[in-house]
Amino acid sequence: MQRSIVEELGERLAAPEEFGEQALVVCDAVVRIFRSGGVEVQALQGLDLLVHAGEMVAVVGASGSGKSTLLRILSAADAPSAGRVRVGRWDLGALSARDRVAYRRTVVGTVRQQTARNLVPYLTARQNVALPLTLAGVPRRRRAGRVGELLDLVGLADAGGRRPGELSGGEQQRVAIAVALANGPRLLLADEPTGELDTATGQQVFDALRAAQRDAGTTVVVVTHDPTVSGQVERTVAIRDGRTSSEVLRRADAGGEGGVVAEEYAVMDRAGRVQVPREYREALDLTRRVRLALEADHVSVRPDGSGDAQAPRRRRHGAA
Ligand code: ADP
Ligand code: MG
Repeated sequence: MQRSIVEELGERLAAPEEFGEQALVVCDAVVRIFRSGGVEVQALQGLDLLVHAGEMVAVVGASGSGKSTLLRILSAADAPSAGRVRVGRWDLGALSARDRVAYRRTVVGTVRQQTARNLVPYLTARQNVALPLTLAGVPRRRRAGRVGELLDLVGLADAGGRRPGELSGGEQQRVAIAVALANGPRLLLADEPTGELDTATGQQVFDALRAAQRDAGTTVVVVTHDPTVSGQVERTVAIRDGRTSSEVLRRADAGGEGGVVAEEYAVMDRAGRVQVPREYREALDLTRRVRLALEADHVSVRPDGSGDAQAPRRRRHGAA
């Protein structure tokens, strides 16, 4: 039976598609406010972000822009003050204590910048990787095989018997990635995992993250200052003042030279707000009021009072 268009429209209005319905990670106008000693810090100020399953996304931004706060919320170590955060079927704004434990144990894995804090110092690499498996109740027989696979994935098949103190910083971070992946999380969160490492070692850690994404199918969100990391990720999201401000997408060059093209995009939030970069604002003296015009295939932004044939003429600032 054919439905009338009225019926169909009515249904669509009744169930409008949720923002980011198809995405694995949805941050919708996320706010996180810290209050301490009468001072209020808005670490996240209405941040929107979608990450699709299987993606690897780099998050960049100045110190204090809210990157770690975002990752802590995504790992359910912290909760948003307002806005909506969803990972898979988990609503992170409303987790019960019990769901929080389950979420942290089975859905996300995390790697921190401070290499020393990711591993138990008196356990070998193999024992560190086995620990989350033991906690999850994986039988001993299955554990050994899984630990071997994970160490192999991060390129450390031969280092299983060494303790963290006998591993380099980069090796420790790779073991930490194996630990984070042990229970097969859908989402791997790494906060400046190469922050304490030199370039060559950082590359090995990046390769382990890449293996997590490509070979283990894990979605990866990595916060980084490191251009060797962000330069290799298909999508880099910049955070400024607690909001996503721009994105760089990298894809293989259509020219077929094996090169990569990077294109920068501004991010528009759900209310239609776009941040104009400071260089642009300064170059054209764009201040509080600007003129927007809809053109055939773009929207123009002009300084207030610039000569536009249709607009009423105004005396220019400074003109006698
Ligand atoms: P980033 O990781 O980008 O350097 P953070 O997310 O750590 O930034 O911090 C963002 C802002 O929130 C900073 O101004 C920081 O001082 C503040 N902040 C973060 N955590 C706390 C906290 N627990 N209490 C108070 N302020 C905090
Ligand atoms: Mg940080």
